[in-house]
This record gives sequence, C-alpha cells and structure tokens, in this order.
Amino acid sequence: MSVKYCLPIIKTKKAEVLKIILENQKTYDFFEIWLDYVEDLDQDFIEQLVKQYDGRLIFLFRRQNLEKITMPLKKRLEIMNMVSKSHCFVDLDISQKEELKTAKKVRLIASYHNYKETPADEKLDQIVGVMRKLKPAIYKVSTFCNSDLDALRLMDLLFELKDEKVKFIVLGMGEKGRMTRIAGAVLGNEFNFAPIVVTEKSAGGQLTKKELEKITKNIKLCYVIGNPVKQSLSPLIHNQGYRQLKIEDQFIFLRRQIKPENLKRFVDEIRNDPAFRGTSITLPHKLEIMKYLDEIDNVAQKIGAVNTVVKKAGRLKGYNTDYLGVFNPLNRMAELSIKTAAVLGAGGAARAAVYALTSSGTRVTVFNRDIKKAEKLAQDFNCEYDSLDNISKVADFDIVVNATKVGLNETDKPLVNKKLIKPSQIIFDVVYSPKNPETRFIKEAKQQGAQTLTGVDMLSNQAVKQFELFTGKHVTVEILRRAL
Ligand code: NAP
Repeated sequence: MSVKYCLPIIKTKKAEVLKIILENQKTYDFFEIWLDYVEDLDQDFIEQLVKQYDGRLIFLFRRQNLEKITMPLKKRLEIMNMVSKSHCFVDLDISQKEELKTAKKVRLIASYHNYKETPADEKLDQIVGVMRKLKPAIYKVSTFCNSDLDALRLMDLLFELKDEKVKFIVLGMGEKGRMTRIAGAVLGNEFNFAPIVVTEKSAGGQLTKKELEKITKNIKLCYVIGNPVKQSLSPLIHNQGYRQLKIEDQFIFLRRQIKPENLKRFVDEIRNDPAFRGTSITLPHKLEIMKYLDEIDNVAQKIGAVNTVVKKAGRLKGYNTDYLGVFNPLNRMAELSIKTAAVLGAGGAARAAVYALTSSGTRVTVFNRDIKKAEKLAQDFNCEYDSLDNISKVADFDIVVNATKVGLNETDKPLVNKKLIKPSQIIFDVVYSPKNPETRFIKEAKQQGAQTLTGVDMLSNQAVKQFELFTGKHVTVEILRRAL
C-alpha cells in the first residue's frame, strides 16, 4: 500500500500558502490549509487554489487546540459553497454544528479532535456513530494519547473502520501516540500529516515526512489475536521491550479481535501484508490456526497447540512458547528439583505445562473435569491422570499447576482447598487478568506459606522467546515486566 502524505499549512498570508504548495507539490499528495489563520483571505484566492490543485486540498476553519474560530460563519458557509463544486475536501469537526448543516454538498472529512485525552471506548463509539450519520468521505479521529493503552484503543478503532471498508484517518497525538502515526500510515490512513521540518509540526508527536517515510519502509507489525483480546497484556510488554531495545521504529505490536469465523481471512491478510512479522495467538485460536500454517515446529506439534506464528520468506511457521512460560520461572525458582507435579486442566495451557514438566523429568498427574481429556493428555505425555473428585491428593505433590480457566473471575472459588496447601509446595496459577494478576488461589497459597508463580510470570517468560522469534533480539523478563 502506498503511503500518502499531507502537508499542514498554517500561515497568515495567501502568498506564503501559495509558495509552500508550489515548493512541495511534487513531494506531497495533499495540502491541508488552515483558512482561519490566513488574514488576507478572499474568494479569488480560494478559486485560484481550487483551479490549480483540485482534489489535493483539504480546507479547514479550525484553530489549533479547538480555539474559537474567528472567521464569521457566513463567510465559512460561502467558502463551503464555492468548494462544493470541486473535488477538494472540507474538514469539519463534529462539534462544528452550523457548518455541518450544509456539509452534504462538500467532500466531507468528519473529524473529532481531543487535545487532552482519548475518550473511553463507549464515547469513541458514540463519536463514530455521529460520523456515520454524516456519511463522510473520510472519518478522522485524532486524540491525545496519555498512555500506551490509549494508542492501542485508537488502533482498535482503526481496525473497526477498516473492517467497515470506509476511508479513515486515525491518529494519536503526543509521544505516546507516536506509534499510531506509524502504524496508521501502513494500515491505510487515507493520508498522513507530516511536516517538512520539526518546527512546522501542527500537532504533538507528529513525525516529519522524511522520518515517516524512512520508518514506514521498514516497520514490521506484530499482533496478538484472540476473541476477546482486550485483556491481553502482550502489546504492552512487547512494545515496552521495543522501546527499551530502541527498536520501536522497527517493530509495533498491536491487538486484533478476531472472531473464529474470521480467522481464515486474518491469515490471508497477514500472508499478503509485507509489513507483517508475527502474531501471538490466544484463545480460542490456538488449535484452529494450525491448519492454516505452512510449517509447525516439533515442540508445538507435540504440545498440540500454537501460540506464536512467525512469517519468514513468505511462509507462516507456528511455535509454542507457552511451555517456556512454565519451564523457565520454575527452573529459576527450584532448579527443577521438583519430583512430582499435579496439573489441573487438560486444555492447551495444561498441555504446555505437562510438556515443560515431563521434559525435565518430573512425574506428572493430570486432574481434569472431563476425565477423557485427562486420559488422552496422560497418554500423549506418558504420565498419570485422575478425576477432579480426587483433588485432595494434590497435598502430596511438590508443585500444583492450575491450568484450568478457574480464577479468571475474582469470585471464582479455587479448585484446591486452602487447607491442602503446604509451605513446602510451589503453587503455579497460569490464570491472570489485567485487573487480577494474583488470583485467589495465589493469595491463599501465600497465606499458607507456599512459594508462588502467577499467570503474569508465565506470560512474561513465554514472551521472551516470542520476542526473540519476532525480532531476532534477546530481551530479559525484567525489561518486559516494566510495562506492567
Ligand atoms: P482450554 O484449552 O479451553 O482449556 C480449559 C481447561 O479449563 C479445560 O481443562 C477445562 O476442563 C477447564 N475448566 C474450565 N472451566 C472449569 C471449571 N469450572 N472447573 C474445572 N475445570 C474447568 O484453555 P487453555 O488455553 O488451556 O487456557 C486455560 C487458562 O490458562 C485460561 O484462563 C488462559 O487465560 C490461561 N493461560 C494463561 C497463559 C499465560 O501466559 N499466563 C497462557 C495460556 C493460557 P474440561 O476439559 O473439563 O472442560
């Protein structure tokens, strides 16, 4: 996809505006002219611009920081009328109610600006709802990002608009919004605001055209996909790693909500996207994704699930790094002197845990609600299995790993009664949620004096390998965890 560039022009004299366009007409696709700043503005000027540069101009009346517009409304409406016969765009913020009444006539960019914050998701939905009613040529949302999460939420919105197949410009202002300008450019923003030099920037966090061109040529996109996906901490920890290793202009990590019926479409997309490097896979896609890949490494085959996909030379290869999320922190804690382990659950996470434990010589017993699944897992890894009805037996194991979904809700009662936990044991709960990094199981294990490992330990430890697969670079768990 070719990246189109727009030069914002905030000048007080007509001659200055014309000079800038003339000087840059070969290098920029579009010019955004902030009309309210042009003191000697007249009809002839607009006519001359439209005649010379039709289709390449965006007119707006807005002032920076949404200050009050000084041009009288009557004059603004006259200009809109004049421009309506051309292919030039008029950018109106959705707060410009009066101008919007006649907006049907013009090629409208319906925009929303917020120089302080990125509103909550519900508010963003409402804003886009207002825009939809206007049926604009382009939807534009530009908000200030106070955190990495704000930038991710804006990118969620970009993917939503992309799915709707409407034209859009979504960008985050400020330093935290920087990644949205890069990702937005490669993901299809209709045009990208980039000044010639740093001093000409019209919004915080803008990159110059030279900077943006250089970065977008080489940027690699990584994702985490899931349904739901907003709970995933992966984007925060990977982007943190990119920043710490100073490779944030080479890699960006975003999240994608992919429904099961759209998985194939997603795979087609990443195959064809030259900017795509890799994706982390979370529920419910870890098994289904396998049938779309060109290659699956041996460990992932044995575990029977893929949580990482990497594209190399056009081929998609699947890996499983989840087992390292169990193996590495345990190795550090107990140097794998663990002789016996009880693994609760028989799904994907349990299979990764059983692989990690059995490959280091630990004797494992699988406890699962569905006994048939426990039996199958036990057969695959040559270990024991038992029913959850016999859960009291876990008191005799060196380590207990909860790899069921129990604990995701704060109100979930742990499968293991607190009284069964001993100080000599290690309790590992793979479950976490951003709001609840320590489950009740972990809290109770601590009260009983046991050593503990959490789902965040698993996530950050598996991410080290994933990071390496995506970037070819080593990062420490400590660096990744700084994001949390
Ligand atoms: P999965 O394949 O769907 O397996 C879910 C397992 O949970 C099954 O064994 C299921 O038992 C059991 N289960 C569900 N509800 C239960 C209940 N009420 N009582 C007893 N057992 C119950 O899911 P998964 O991929 O293994 O993931 C399991 C958990 O691990 C999830 O919470 C996930 O977020 C977490 N996880 C964390 C990480 C990390 O990095 N920290 C990585 C992967 C997964 P049945 O077979 O009887 O249905």
